[in-house]
Amino acid sequence: MEEMRNRAWHGLPEAEVVHILKANKETGLTTEEAQKRLEYFGPNMLKPKKGKNPWVMFLLQFHQPLIYILIASGCVTYFLGEYVDSAVIFGVVFLNAVIGFVQEIKAVKALDALAKSIITEAKVMRDGKMITLPSAELTVGDLILLQSGDKVPADVRLLSVRDETIDESALTGESVPVPKKIGILPHDILLADRSNMAYTSTLVTYGQSQGIVVDVGTNTEVGKISELINTVEDLETPLTLKIQKFSTMLLYMILGLAVLTFIAGMMHDWTFGQSFVASVALAVAAIPEGLPAAFTIILAIGVSRMVHRRAVVRKLPAVETLGSTTVICSDKTGTLTENQMTVQNIFVGGKTFKVTGTGYVPVGTVTDENGNESQKFPGVSDCLRAGILCNDAALEQKEDGRWIINGDPTEGGLYVSARKYGMNETDENFLYPRVSLIPFESEYQFMATLNKHEDKKVVYLKGAVEVLLSRCEKAQDIDGNIIPLNEENVAFHVARFASKGMRVLAFARKEMPADINDISHDDVKSGLVFLGLQAMIDPPRAEATAAVAACLSAGVRVKMITGDHALTAAAIARQMNLDGAGANADLPEVMTGKDIAELSDTEMEDVVQNISVFARVTPEQKLKLVRALQVRGEIVAMTGDGVNDAPALKQSNIGVAMGKNGTDVAKEAADIILMDDNFATIEAAVEEGRCVFDNLMKFIIWTLPVSVGESLVLLAAIFMGSEIPISPLQILWVNLAQTVFLGFAFAFENKEKNIMVRPPRKPTAPIVPRAFIYRMLLVSAVMMAACFFLFNQALGKGESLAVAQTSVVNMIVFIQIFYMFNCRSLLNGFWTIGMFTNRVFWGGIVMMILAQMAFTYTAIFNKMFKTEALPSDRWVEIIVIALGCSLVIGLYKIIYESKAEKKSFL
Ligand code: ADP
Ligand code: MG
Repeated sequence: MEEMRNRAWHGLPEAEVVHILKANKETGLTTEEAQKRLEYFGPNMLKPKKGKNPWVMFLLQFHQPLIYILIASGCVTYFLGEYVDSAVIFGVVFLNAVIGFVQEIKAVKALDALAKSIITEAKVMRDGKMITLPSAELTVGDLILLQSGDKVPADVRLLSVRDETIDESALTGESVPVPKKIGILPHDILLADRSNMAYTSTLVTYGQSQGIVVDVGTNTEVGKISELINTVEDLETPLTLKIQKFSTMLLYMILGLAVLTFIAGMMHDWTFGQSFVASVALAVAAIPEGLPAAFTIILAIGVSRMVHRRAVVRKLPAVETLGSTTVICSDKTGTLTENQMTVQNIFVGGKTFKVTGTGYVPVGTVTDENGNESQKFPGVSDCLRAGILCNDAALEQKEDGRWIINGDPTEGGLYVSARKYGMNETDENFLYPRVSLIPFESEYQFMATLNKHEDKKVVYLKGAVEVLLSRCEKAQDIDGNIIPLNEENVAFHVARFASKGMRVLAFARKEMPADINDISHDDVKSGLVFLGLQAMIDPPRAEATAAVAACLSAGVRVKMITGDHALTAAAIARQMNLDGAGANADLPEVMTGKDIAELSDTEMEDVVQNISVFARVTPEQKLKLVRALQVRGEIVAMTGDGVNDAPALKQSNIGVAMGKNGTDVAKEAADIILMDDNFATIEAAVEEGRCVFDNLMKFIIWTLPVSVGESLVLLAAIFMGSEIPISPLQILWVNLAQTVFLGFAFAFENKEKNIMVRPPRKPTAPIVPRAFIYRMLLVSAVMMAACFFLFNQALGKGESLAVAQTSVVNMIVFIQIFYMFNCRSLLNGFWTIGMFTNRVFWGGIVMMILAQMAFTYTAIFNKMFKTEALPSDRWVEIIVIALGCSLVIGLYKIIYESKAEKKSFL
């Protein structure tokens, strides 16, 4: 098969390409042959870019300003001859790096797995059947179909092209999509001008084509350029950057304080060494070592929770933004509704027919208005025939008996109604073979096929009523006679169906000259014969309706943006209570694409706020909508599935793509992808986004008071000239052990009960609201008082410095343990979040207590940290004081924060 490699495929005649590749232009490869080739050429994958070298990743853990201070302190202590201290400081630095490293590896792995979970698929002909395969399984010689919205899965020589343009910016940098055509090109033509080829990783923006795969995997043009694609996600987000800035600021403050401490020490006639130790202690105390690692973990856990709820995060900053979302603009069909299209009414020649049966099971009957089974009318058959011919879906019965649709459900539903009238796809397609087509694109809202029948050619069309009706000149009655078109009557029936929330499709036909083999938009501009209507129900998803209600209570407004009819949209919006006016209120006001086109940008800004249903909207108008909302400060999440949705997805704060029915183009542009295309999943993601923010805040509120409290203890001691109540090493111990055993538990904290009954967080708001800053100061002050009390009491009793310091260390740790309970819920009691919902929390407390026992009672720790066993009554004191502190803070929470915080925070 070596002869199939490395050819200038664009310069060969088609027949030769097919010959060299031993391909088949009609039936594709056989599965057997494909298997052989797959083994020979390898899977069709680009090598993912290797992550950072683990060593580099590990070393980078030391590259943090706060760690520099520690390293410097370690060195100076070494030269001062304090070898044990120095060793412990380096030990802590090392341990910190190990923990950071392990966490980062985990986070990167999780994100990698996410990237891989989004596989692209290819439509390929095998054994004469069109099937969908993961693109990794494509091989050289495969016959594939490319459609608008697809990411080209391999390098392809095109054999037939219908109005196709491809965005090749990923490969050539050319930002304007290039048109494709068939033919032979000179050998030496530039890559960017090879119009008869489609290249891996480029995006089909319009039209469709068929072609033969000529190169796969690393042999493709992109593969050759880089052999690498970037799958490694960056762990930085706006928030982590803010935190980094914050730490740097902290660094300078700490250095300043340390210098002050040193000076104060020298003024107390301490030796250089003593003063230095004091200033090191202060620096070490003030550094919240665990902050960066905790943030990474909280974000990563948030991402994995979202995946559990079927929302794949493509861009990490989305996790934060989700919590601030104020408006969700959602598609109707398939996102708010089930996308289970069941035709219920057929309207032909002024007569309405009913269709019985549910779902895609093709069992049921077509009856007249009185419920009697209808006889077969040629006019009705012709309307249903249009639905069969103008159709790219497939109706299929699974082995377990279920009926499913491959392709567009709107189209699938049309097969079902036709079958109920005794027709079927095989016969019709045999009698009316397709010659050519104009595929459905949301901007045109119709589809047309050119079919051959005996020696005649006829175009069948289906699409939005407004689009087709205006092009019709005549109509056909139930007996197949041509009659004048009664537009008013048709409009009346459309309104009748649509106001029940049904999707209404119109069907039309046009006879064409027998010698034509292709159709263009111009051919179907006018002169059509109206065949009739089919109205289908597509019920709202129950869980989406509940999610809409949750959003409303959370201050997140939901707007429906649909290509469907205004009345259909309004009726569904009402059934789902999208605007919160109640399910029995009047139909909501609808703005249509026409209205949007007529409004200026500023006029739009004024009106979009109050309207929740937008119908007959083109994808381009979505962009205008998003912008208008953003001007007024809204944080907008916007869904999309088509190629033309990409600009709106990029413009919105959170672009949401459909995982099942979305195009690759939309997915590339999106921030998150819904695996189930369901609106409820967006709501779930918003919930998780809020939870991430809550947990970050909880961690900060919990951890900063230790730093501040410890610094206060030291500062006070130094200025009073007393012994220092806690040594630098002991502080390191406290800070590190706490973050590891206790702090990380906040990442696993559950959502608060009220998480969806409070308004969205303002993105400009400080990470920690002022009211919480007061709480942190209170905790720090309480901690300082408790430590001093215990320290002086111990020394007063004549106990050793080691015992006094050990008491202080345990005091701080136990205050933090009890204070954790205060922090589990931001505003309410810890029990509201569920006592045993967070096992990591309880496990952490047990570990922490065990660690403290080791710290206090084991010989090694006693030696390393200069600690000593405590008298047992000291434990009683410690626990009583810590419990007391927690109660004081709890009371403060109830009395003060219940008012102040709710105002500033809620
Ligand atoms: P939605 O927002 O409901 O997904 P679409 O953009 O898919 O809207 O469709 C807009 C309109 O185009 C529909 O109301 C329908 O009239 C028409 N339409 C939808 N799908 C097809 C199709 N496959 N073929 C022809 N017309 C269609
Ligand atoms: Mg649609």
